[in-house]
Amino acid sequence: MEHQHHRRRHRHRNKPDSRHERHSSPALQKLEQEIDSIDKPNLHAERHGHPQRKQHGSKPFMSIVIPLLNEEESLKPLYHALEEVLPGMSDGHYEVIFIDDGSTDTSFSVIRDIHESNRKYKAIRFRRNCGKSAALAVGFAAAQGRFVFTMDADLQDDPKELPVMLEMLEQGYDLVSGWKKKRHDPWHKTIPSRFFNFVTSRMSGIKLHDFNCGLKAYRKEVVKTLQVYGEMHRYLPALAHWEGFRVTEVPVLHHPRKYGYSKFGFSRFFKGFLDLLTVMFTTRYVKRPLHLFGTVGSIMVLIGLAINIYLTVEWAMGLTFLSQRPLALFGIAMIIVGVQLISMGLIGELVVKNSLETTTYGIREKLD
Ligand code: UDP
Ligand code: MG
Repeated sequence: MEHQHHRRRHRHRNKPDSRHERHSSPALQKLEQEIDSIDKPNLHAERHGHPQRKQHGSKPFMSIVIPLLNEEESLKPLYHALEEVLPGMSDGHYEVIFIDDGSTDTSFSVIRDIHESNRKYKAIRFRRNCGKSAALAVGFAAAQGRFVFTMDADLQDDPKELPVMLEMLEQGYDLVSGWKKKRHDPWHKTIPSRFFNFVTSRMSGIKLHDFNCGLKAYRKEVVKTLQVYGEMHRYLPALAHWEGFRVTEVPVLHHPRKYGYSKFGFSRFFKGFLDLLTVMFTTRYVKRPLHLFGTVGSIMVLIGLAINIYLTVEWAMGLTFLSQRPLALFGIAMIIVGVQLISMGLIGELVVKNSLETTTYGIREKLD
C-alpha cells in the first residue's frame, strides 16, 4: 500500500521530465536510457502504456533465447510459430537468439536459412556440446532486450504463452516461470520430476510447482545477474529468489515431443541434486563460510566435550575403566572433526576476504 502511494507520487514528479525527454540531446538520452535500465517497470507502464518500445529505438524490446541440440525438424515450425506471436507483441522490436549447443545434424543450416530470410533471428554456435546451462548463459550475455524469454526448441513450449508472461513482468515481477500443469511426457520423467520439484521447493524456500520448465520470462537485470553453469538451469527460479528478485509462475501449455528425442537421461536427477547442494552453499553461505562450518563444528565439539567430561567423572569416581568405554572414542572423534570444521570455516573466511573485490551486490533501485 505504502509502496503504491510512493509510486504514484514518484510518477507525478516525473511527469515534466517525460515531456522534456523528447527534446533532450542524444548524450542525455543515452544517459537517461542507462538510468532507465535500473528497474522501474511500473512507472513506465503507468505513464504511457508501453513506452519501453518507443524509447529504446533500435534496441530490441524483447529477446528470445532458445538453446538447442539436434532439433532440425522442429526449427522451421518453431520459426513460424514465433512469427505469429512476436511482431504483434513488441511492435517489431525483438530478437531471437538460437544457441546451437553442438548439434551434429543439420540444425545449424536450418538456422542459417532462417537468419538469411529474417535478420531478427540470430545464432551462436558452440564447437561442441556444452550443455543447456552453458547455452543459456551465453544467450543471456548476448541478449539485449529489456525483457528476456527462454524456451526449448523442441516445440514442447508454445510461443502463444509469451504475451501472458510479458504481462506478468509488466505487473512488476522479475521472473515468470512456466508451469507445465498438464504435462505431456512419459511417466518415467513426470514422476521423478514431481519429487525433484517438491524437494527443490522445500530446500529453496520458494513455492513453485515446476522449476525446470524451458519457458521462462525475465527482466533484463535477472539474466545479467544470475550465473548459470553446470546443470544450474534447473534452479534459476531458486537462484533468482535468493538474489531478492520477485519470482512467480503461470500455468502454460505443454505439447508432446513431435520430433527427435529427449536429451536428458536418468543422470539428470543425480547431477541435479549435487548442483542443488552447490547452489545452496554458494548462494547462502559463500559470504560467511564460518557461519555454516563454525556452527556445525562448535556443536560437534560441545557434544564431544560433554561425553568426555561425563566419562572423566565416572572414571574419577572409580566407576569405570576408559578402555571399556567405546563412547570415549566417539567423544574424541566429535572433538577432532568439530575442530577441523571450525578451521575449515576460518580458512573459508580468509578466501572470501581475499576475493571481496569480485563480489557484487544486487541493487534494485537508485535515487540520486
Ligand atoms: N538442449 C541443449 N543442450 C543439451 C541438451 C538439451 O541445448 O545438452 C536443448 C534441447 O535441444 C531443447 C531443450 O534444451 O531445446 C530441452 O531439452 P529436452 O527437450 O531434451 O529436455 P526435456 O524436455 O526432455 O526435459
Ligand atoms: Mg523437451
